[in-house]
Amino acid sequence: MKKVCHYRCVRLIEIQIYNSKLIFIKTNIFHRNTILYIYSISTISNMSFKYEDVENIYKKIKSMKQKGKNADYIPDLQIVNPNIYAISVCNVKGEIMNFGDYRTEVGIESTSKVFTLALALNMYSIKKLISRVGDKDEKREFNSIKDVLEIKNHTINSFVNAGAMATTSLLYDKTKTNDMNEKAMNKIILENMEDFAGRTLKVNEHLYLSEYKTSHHNQLLIDKLVSYRRFYGDPQTVLKSYTKQCSVMVTSKDIAVMAATLANNGTNPITHKKLVNEEKVEYIVDHMAQHGLYNESEQWWESTHFPAKSGVGGVIMIVIPGVMGIGIVSPPLNKYGNSFKGVETGKLLANIPIY
Ligand code: GLN
Repeated sequence: MKKVCHYRCVRLIEIQIYNSKLIFIKTNIFHRNTILYIYSISTISNMSFKYEDVENIYKKIKSMKQKGKNADYIPDLQIVNPNIYAISVCNVKGEIMNFGDYRTEVGIESTSKVFTLALALNMYSIKKLISRVGDKDEKREFNSIKDVLEIKNHTINSFVNAGAMATTSLLYDKTKTNDMNEKAMNKIILENMEDFAGRTLKVNEHLYLSEYKTSHHNQLLIDKLVSYRRFYGDPQTVLKSYTKQCSVMVTSKDIAVMAATLANNGTNPITHKKLVNEEKVEYIVDHMAQHGLYNESEQWWESTHFPAKSGVGGVIMIVIPGVMGIGIVSPPLNKYGNSFKGVETGKLLANIPIY
């Protein structure tokens, strides 16, 4: 019987009594390491961090010298306030704690790839998804053309730009016109993210146009995929939809709830709406553990053991299966295109206990 349980310490324990609740811990072996799935058999676990522990990390990282730089290849991201900094935590019971600028919205950018993957998995089997897109390791940056040329399946995985756009293209319905598809895809992508967040979200049209007008690089990635027959919808329609999905505005609190939905086996802990089945949640979380932070994924995994997904707007989303979701926002990025302070925050969060 333990009062305090540390996520890292419980890793290898199979069954444990915690606060008189029986928690069953199932381990799954993945390529990179082991991910824990913790299921509370009696009541839903209300484990979380201690408020003061997260507050201390918030204060420490807030005063830390900023070594990152806002993304500059999307004009609107360059002018976002670099001092925005927020942490939100939401456990699988829906209990939330917030720190800093948790009401400030930023572009979700690549963190949206997680939710479009969930949508695609609601339409296709995991097997089909792997054959159409795949789960190969990236070798270079998140939008590398060289990787698309050199990596055998070309689409790489659902979290680099090429594979993410191919994943979005799986939502394209070939029996409908491009116009109809654009409307339908925009609608389901936004509604799905709203279901994960448990509130109405908005597309930032200005951010969308700022990226769409300068998206020649993504266009080139799509052209390559089309030439390899690894793209499954009309290129322009999908590019627009993909860019729109990246321009949805979210707060750290939204991200924490969205992550907690994945931690809670696909059921939003606040609205109780079931969004993805368990087997597919495992694929998504596994994908996050392997590819969530691009070519910093391995380093991140080694220092945190947190499945996570970043975005160039400065978001880092962390899922601790069976326990909680975490949203961190800080726009300046490190050399891998991940939030500099977000990564530093994650590393410290990995070293505090969960009670
Ligand atoms: N919208 C961005 C792009 O397509 C997302 C990239 C990211 O967040 N890493 O380049």
